[in-house]
Amino acid sequence: MLDEFVSQPCVAYFSMEIALRNEIPTYAGGLGVLAGDTLRSAADLRLPLVGVTLVSRAGYFRQQFDAAGQQLEQRAVWEPQQWAQALDAKVAVRIEDRPVWVSAWLYVIESRLGGSAPVLLLDTDLAENSPKDREISHSLYGGDDEYRLKQEMVLGLGGVRILRALGFEISAYHMNEGHSALLGVELMRRFAYPADDVRPGEPLYDLPRVRDLCRFTTHTPVEAGHDRFPYELVKRLFASSVYGYNNHQVPTPGAPGTEHGPIEFGTLRELGGADCLNMTRLALNVSDFVNGVAKRHAEVSAKMYPGYQVRAITNGVHPFAWSAPSFRELYDRCIPGWCHEPELLARVHGIADADLLSAHARAKQALIDKVAALSGITLDPTVATVCFARRMTAYKRPEMLFSDITRLKSIARQQPLQIVLAGKAHPHDVEGKRLIARLHEHARELAGSIAVAYLPDYDLDLALLLVSGADVWLNTPLPPLEASGTSGMKAAFNGVPSLSVLDGWWIEGCIEGVTGWAIEEAASLYEKLERIVLPRYYETADGRHGWVRIMKAVIGTNAAYFNSHRMMRRYATEAYLR
Ligand SMILES: *Cc1c(COP(=O)(O)O)cnc(C)c1O
Repeated sequence: MLDEFVSQPCVAYFSMEIALRNEIPTYAGGLGVLAGDTLRSAADLRLPLVGVTLVSRAGYFRQQFDAAGQQLEQRAVWEPQQWAQALDAKVAVRIEDRPVWVSAWLYVIESRLGGSAPVLLLDTDLAENSPKDREISHSLYGGDDEYRLKQEMVLGLGGVRILRALGFEISAYHMNEGHSALLGVELMRRFAYPADDVRPGEPLYDLPRVRDLCRFTTHTPVEAGHDRFPYELVKRLFASSVYGYNNHQVPTPGAPGTEHGPIEFGTLRELGGADCLNMTRLALNVSDFVNGVAKRHAEVSAKMYPGYQVRAITNGVHPFAWSAPSFRELYDRCIPGWCHEPELLARVHGIADADLLSAHARAKQALIDKVAALSGITLDPTVATVCFARRMTAYKRPEMLFSDITRLKSIARQQPLQIVLAGKAHPHDVEGKRLIARLHEHARELAGSIAVAYLPDYDLDLALLLVSGADVWLNTPLPPLEASGTSGMKAAFNGVPSLSVLDGWWIEGCIEGVTGWAIEEAASLYEKLERIVLPRYYETADGRHGWVRIMKAVIGTNAAYFNSHRMMRRYATEAYLR
């Protein structure tokens, strides 16, 4: 089953969440979608990558709303056996000094271009484990600190072990965000110097060798966003797998889960931070290649962690996955080879205006049909449609568009407008949930003036309908908190311009009036919408050539560049082949 994948050295790509397909709810947002696009591109380009993640059988959650617009959450249980094959390997990770057994499922990403990429879904739901331990791999971002640290032990320590047990030869370990940083600890233990050779004061581990193997992509531009664990908790869960404090006894290697002996506490603290185990700091210290996900984000990260070199590899999205069926057909016909070399989309200028407009009209109709089915609201295909869909959380500022309802109504009286919204709030994000309810209120306030639909259960399929059916893609994050942002890139594959605050990728992607428009706050949002965006949209004297010119620039400039093939070619040449 694995033969074709283990026959050559490969890069292990670790991520807490990976969006594999719509039916598999093992992702919460942008991080997981990026991980999925990374592996989809690897399959297309035949780059030898193996994904490692948790199976998250209980999924993230399915979203509905009550009559007041409050988010309701339902479990999103899925059956791994329906989509993946059980692998015949089992490893133990010691947690609180008992072995927690970890097995893996194999999901294979099949590329349209013939390649494939394996993904290992780690599972602790095994008869050998206690009922509580069986749940460690169940809930994505569920539970408390203790649950999360257990998950990260299974991902980081268990992942490295099971790769070896399955016969993978790993040439590099790539951490997608800090959740998997404990893989560095596992490698340190693997590369410990024989105890008899170490003289007092000398290093116990071959850290340069570990660093040579590890790459780290950080995604979080604020300290508070980084995963951190109190050392008391670390000591309790690692138990005798960490030694060197309070005269703790050195355990005997050989017990299940202690394959390489324990880790010394002083070393762990040197790498993970003095006060608590900071997973970003640990990842930075065990990796000799570190990058941020956009140029600005790399600068912000370098300031946050002085002394580390943080490079920039700006994110991208998967060409085929994020093009609507009508655009896939158009590109297949007019730009053959675009799935392998999306740079070819620069040739979009040779496509007839009418063909582009009709591809967009089909995508827009598909969204209108979905809106009708989900909300009962009838949208008008001739009316400019502004979409805003993403994780609902404070820094994304979803209320900006509604901050002056009178102004918004007056704009729409002259130039009609309709709005589609979607997005989940993390179950613990009280403010995010409040925002969802407020958006529902705004929709009611605008009824009769502007049609506003809030669609439930934002997922991969809904995202594709939205990014391709919109006329304008709106984004209003509070800088510098949007590390990259990727939904605007998805819109670009469908010729949809962004109206967005300059942050993350948009600093690199915005050519004012050409690929979209930059805004700062509500005043400039209304101003540009009223004076520039809507007049351009409704300009018909030139047969809509002005608008089509924007659509073509968006595709030819931004889709041609902000795609995950370019991103992976850069990871391959700059991060993996070092
Ligand atoms: C692309 C995507 C995201 C991330 O969008 P951002 O604009 O980066 O916030 C989140 N959720 C889903 C379902 C997506 O497809």
